[in-house]
Amino acid sequence: MIPVAIFAALALSAWATSSTAQPRLSDTTRSYLSIAAPIVALTNVTLIDGTGRPAERGQTVVINGDRIQAVGPTGAVSVPAGARVVDLPGHTVIPGLVGMHNHTFYTTAAGRRAQLNTSAPRLYLGSGVTTIRTTGSISPYAEISLKQQIEAGEVPGPRMHISGPYITGPDAVVERKHITTPEQARRVVDYWADEGATWFKVYTEISRENLRAVTEAAHRRGVKVTGHLCSVGYREAVEAGIDALEHGLMANLEYHPDKVPDRCPGRDLETYAKLDVNSEAVQSTFRALVAKGVPMTSTLAVYEISIPNRPPLEQRVLDAMSPEVRREYQDTRRRLAERAGEGSMLAAFRKAQEYERAFVKAGGLLAAGVDPTGNGGALPGFGDQRNLELLIEAGFTPEEAVRIMTANGAKVLGQADLGTVAPGQIADLVVLRGDLAARPADIRNVVTVFKGGVGFDAQKLIASVAGLVGIR
Ligand SMILES: [Zn+2]
Repeated sequence: MIPVAIFAALALSAWATSSTAQPRLSDTTRSYLSIAAPIVALTNVTLIDGTGRPAERGQTVVINGDRIQAVGPTGAVSVPAGARVVDLPGHTVIPGLVGMHNHTFYTTAAGRRAQLNTSAPRLYLGSGVTTIRTTGSISPYAEISLKQQIEAGEVPGPRMHISGPYITGPDAVVERKHITTPEQARRVVDYWADEGATWFKVYTEISRENLRAVTEAAHRRGVKVTGHLCSVGYREAVEAGIDALEHGLMANLEYHPDKVPDRCPGRDLETYAKLDVNSEAVQSTFRALVAKGVPMTSTLAVYEISIPNRPPLEQRVLDAMSPEVRREYQDTRRRLAERAGEGSMLAAFRKAQEYERAFVKAGGLLAAGVDPTGNGGALPGFGDQRNLELLIEAGFTPEEAVRIMTANGAKVLGQADLGTVAPGQIADLVVLRGDLAARPADIRNVVTVFKGGVGFDAQKLIASVAGLVGIR
C-alpha cells in the first residue's frame, strides 16, 4: 500500500473546511477523505484517459481545486510549487466511472426490495463510480433527498441524475406507474419534472401511443426518456422519440418470432442465442439508433448473475450483504448451479456481448451501468466494475471499455466536462492499484477516488457499509 492516507490525514481538515471551490463537508464526509489539498499532483501513473487512446505509462496528472490542470509525461509536466505530490508507480488512473443504470434500490430473488440510501452511495463512490443516473426509481423522493445531501457535502456519494418513477402499462408491480392514457403520462412527467427528475424510464409493458406521450411531455420539459422495453421494439421506440435504450439485446424483443405490436412476447432464449448480428434485422436496428443518436446501456453484470456459477463469488460481495441477504444470494447461486446443464442463458449472454460489440462497430454510442436488481448478485459499484470486465470479455480493449464506462456515459448525460482526463475537465478520477490495461480484474483495486478534486479513501467507504446491503 502507498503511504498516501497517513500523510493526507494531517493536512486535509483545514483545507476541506476552508475552500470556496468545494461545498463545506460534514464531519461524516470528511472522515472518508484521504487526499485533500488545493493542488495535487499524481506522478508516475499509467493513464487510461477515457478517450479510447492506448494506456500511457509514466504520466502525471495535476489537479487544481475541482479541475484537472495538466496531464502529460512525468518530468515534462510542471508540478506547481506547493502541490501535494503523490507518487504512484504501479498504479493506473482512469476517469471516474459514469454509471448509467445505477439504482439506489436493490432486490433479491426472495422478493426483497430495499432502498439503500446509506450503502449504495458509499459503494458507488468507493468503487470508483463518481456519477450515476438512477434509471428508474421506486422512491423518487428518497433519491432527490440523497442527491441534495450529497451536493451539500453532508454524506459521501456520487453525482446523481434522478429519474422519476417507472412508467409502464398493465404489469402490476407496486412501485411502478401504470399508464393507460396519454393524459396520465403527461401528468406524471410534469409532476416529477417539477420535483427534479431529469430522466424517465418507461418499462416493459408501455404501449407505443403512451410511449410517444411520455417522450413528447418530457421533451417539452427539457428532460429525457430511456426504456427497459419489451412490448415496444427498439425501432418503434426510436420512432416514438425515445432518447436511450437499456439492457442491449436482452430488452429488444423485435427479433422474437411471435412479436405483435404493443405486446410483450414470452422469453425465447434459443432464438436469441442464434441471432445473427450481421443480419438485416439487427443492422437496421443499429442504423435507426445511430441515425437519431440514441445510445444503448450495457448491463451485462445483471444478466451474468442468472448464469450458473457466475460471476466468480467474491468475499467482498458477501461481506457487504446483510446476513439474510447473504443467505438468500447463496441459495440462489445453489439453485442456479443445480441447473448448470441449461446452457441457453449462457448462449444468450454471449450473444448479448456480441450485439454490443456489433452496435459499437456500427457507430453506436454504448454506455454501461450495474442495475443492482434481479437476484441481488450485482452490487452497487462492484457490479459496475464487473461490467467493465465483461465488456473486455466481450472483445473490447480495456481502453474502449473504460471509454464506454466514462466518456460515453458523460456524453449521454450531456456533461462534456466529465468522463475524460484532460486539462479543464472536472477532477473525477480513480486511482487503481495495478495495471488495468493488462489485468481487467485490477478495476477492483480502487485505492483513491477523486470527486471534484477531493480524494476519498475507497476501502474506508466500502468497509463502512459491511453487512448493510439489503437493509439500508
Ligand atoms: Zn433497472
